[in-house]
Amino acid sequence: MPHPPTRHGLEIKDDLAEVGRSIIDLTTDSILDNATAKMKSTAILILTCIGLAPFAHGTVRKFIQISDIHYDPTYVEGGNQQKMCHKTLEDDGDDDGASKYGSYTCDSPKLLVESAFLAMKKWVPDPDFILWTGDNSAHDDSIAQKDVMSNLRFVTRKLDTIYPGIPVIPVLGNHDSAPADYFPDSKNASTKNTTYSDYITDGSFGHWLDPEKGPATEFKECGFYAFKKPNYDGNVTQTFIVLNTALYYNNGALDRVSYPLDPCGQFDWLRQTLDDCKPSERVFIVAHVPPGYFEHNATEPMFSNENYTRAYLDIVTQKDNAKKVRFYILLSS
Ligand SMILES: [Zn+2]
Repeated sequence: MPHPPTRHGLEIKDDLAEVGRSIIDLTTDSILDNATAKMKSTAILILTCIGLAPFAHGTVRKFIQISDIHYDPTYVEGGNQQKMCHKTLEDDGDDDGASKYGSYTCDSPKLLVESAFLAMKKWVPDPDFILWTGDNSAHDDSIAQKDVMSNLRFVTRKLDTIYPGIPVIPVLGNHDSAPADYFPDSKNASTKNTTYSDYITDGSFGHWLDPEKGPATEFKECGFYAFKKPNYDGNVTQTFIVLNTALYYNNGALDRVSYPLDPCGQFDWLRQTLDDCKPSERVFIVAHVPPGYFEHNATEPMFSNENYTRAYLDIVTQKDNAKKVRFYILLSS
């Protein structure tokens, strides 16, 4: 997604780079506003949230959300800041060249990503789980799907090295496809395709979601799934409902003339999945693209058709769901 200046980033100095963190209180009735992290030297947001959730017997648990890494392996120190900090043949005159740790006009170099991960580990060495909410590739129209998959594997390796054994909940962002914003309705496709199952295999999501089990099977259809962690807090089950809301965003694979009522059947699935949750379960809904409007462009809704916004809100604000669901939705702004 595009990245205007952050709203409430909190700058904290680190040895290697400046990243931010916010602590958010996760309460029963709150609709969570995402906390954002600010990179002074780059327009790309690496978001690290630490959620403190009240659990049984007054226990406080921690989790991390990381998002919008937008890793660009072709970023070059000294590269042209008007050309994504890539190496160009012609010199741009007064361009000083991109700095080692990033440029406001470019995507994230490897050093920036690595320093942010190190800082994350320093602040939160022992999270219970990590929400990895999408957008791992650069805003670069020339990249291919194999590059997108390679970037996903890069992030998986980093997370696995820094947080071995910690569960990671992967979520698709609109920049996790090539071209960006291209998420077909594989469920209703006339010909079989491997668009989503490729994320499980080639894109390393299978490292987090056992390819043989239910969540991965659901994911392979259209990029959304539910994941339950039983006995997470005493006998309380923690349920993650992970949505592929990139289906509703500026989706180049969607028929934006007829606007099918329920792409991939995700609304039906969400309704049913929430209905099936027991009142005692703790439920998080996680997605990359939120409903509503982008505050810097309040004329265009985030979901490309108002019926999608209405359908989504109808489900999540339904009385029983509003009571039992904690919404945790990313707006990378
Ligand atoms: Zn993004």
